[in-house]
Order: sequence, then structure tokens, then C-alpha cells
Amino acid sequence: MVKIMLDAGHGGKDSGAVGNGLREKDLTLNIVKKIGNLLNDYEGVEVHYTRTDDRFLELSERAAIANKLKADYFISVHINAGGGTGFESYIFNNTKDAKTIAYQNVIHAEIMKGIGNVTDRGKKRANYAVLRETHMPAILTENLFIDNANDAAKLKSEQFLLQVAHGHVIGLEKAFGLKKKAKPQPQPKPQQKVSDKKLYRVQVGAFADRENAERLAEELKKKGYPVYITD
Ligand SMILES: [Zn+2]
Repeated sequence: MVKIMLDAGHGGKDSGAVGNGLREKDLTLNIVKKIGNLLNDYEGVEVHYTRTDDRFLELSERAAIANKLKADYFISVHINAGGGTGFESYIFNNTKDAKTIAYQNVIHAEIMKGIGNVTDRGKKRANYAVLRETHMPAILTENLFIDNANDAAKLKSEQFLLQVAHGHVIGLEKAFGLKKKAKPQPQPKPQQKVSDKKLYRVQVGAFADRENAERLAEELKKKGYPVYITD
């Protein structure tokens, strides 16, 4: 079982960045829920959230929730601001953990693939609290700039947010070797080919009068029996 801790950045009194009629805390929650829903299609994944509604959590609380749960991976989703455009991801600046680095490589690449024509600002490192204080491999994604009109236009599209979520999920699929649950197949009808069936022939009788034979044949046909008259 792989335990994934999804962390929607900001919340409650902390809106995060705002711009172009958007609030970071709403977008991060939206994306994180989409990631969680998509992850439910996979076997052996336990999805956890630091928050599922609009509430404030300290950064250290977020890390503590993941540590207490002994999550296998921590993903903090954010929206950037401050003049710029595009996508970037972060891992803890001092990490030497091979998994942390490998997961960033694959998840960053899949998000970039998933969101199409967006500037790749690169795989970065920073001394962020949620990355420093979590005891498991962790990543923080900065998904476009809320204060950039072009980026904001994308962030207003549910379809784009789904692409962002999908990129995270394909990255996780590859990083952790996740397998999709078998889809429930529509129950196949027990349909046997006529040629495969053993057929039993019922001879009804011989009639001196063809008319009588035809009358009985008609009756049987009405009931759905295949009837042939032979000389
Ligand atoms: Zn943020």
C-alpha cells in the first residue's frame, strides 16, 4: 500500500497569492481533489489530504500530519506569483535522498507533458518548511502564476486544472509503479454459437395430408420452433 499525502497549499485566513480574480487556496484545493479522485482509479493507493475544505493549517501541522501517518510521499500543490510564467517544482535543498530526486524527475516531467505549452522553469530546491519537516520524500509544485494574465486564463479552466492533476498522477504512477484497478467488465452474455450447440431433432409426425402437416407446422412456428416440412 502506497500512502500519498496531498497537501493543498494555504487555506482559511491564508488565501495565498491572489490575482486575476483567483485565490491560490481555492485552486490548490481544486487541483488536490482532482489528483485524489484520479488516484482512486489505482490499486494499492491510500489517498490522504492535509485539508479537504477551506481551513487554515500551519506549515508544521501539514508536515506533522504526514509524519504521523507515515506517508510514503508528500505532495504540496501551490500556485506561483510575483511576476513570471510557467511551472516549477521543488524538493528540500539539502536532500541527498535518491528517491526524492528520482520522484521529482519523473513527476516534474509528466506534469510538463500534461500541461502542454507552458514554460518549464525547472526542477529546483528550496528550504521550505513542508519539505524540510516531512520525514518522507516530498515535492512542492508551483503551477503557473496567478498574477500573470495568460497563466491565470489557463488556471480558470477546469480542463486545464484536470491536466495539471493528471500530470501529477501519471508522475506518481511512474514513480511508484502504480497499476490501474481492473475496470468492472460488462457481464458477458452466455452466448453460444448455434454451431457449437448440440442439436436435438424432434420428429413430430408424418401426415398423409400436406394441409394437416402445414397446419401443425404453422402452430409450432408461432411458438418459435424451427419447423421444416420434408417429403
Ligand atoms: Zn503557495
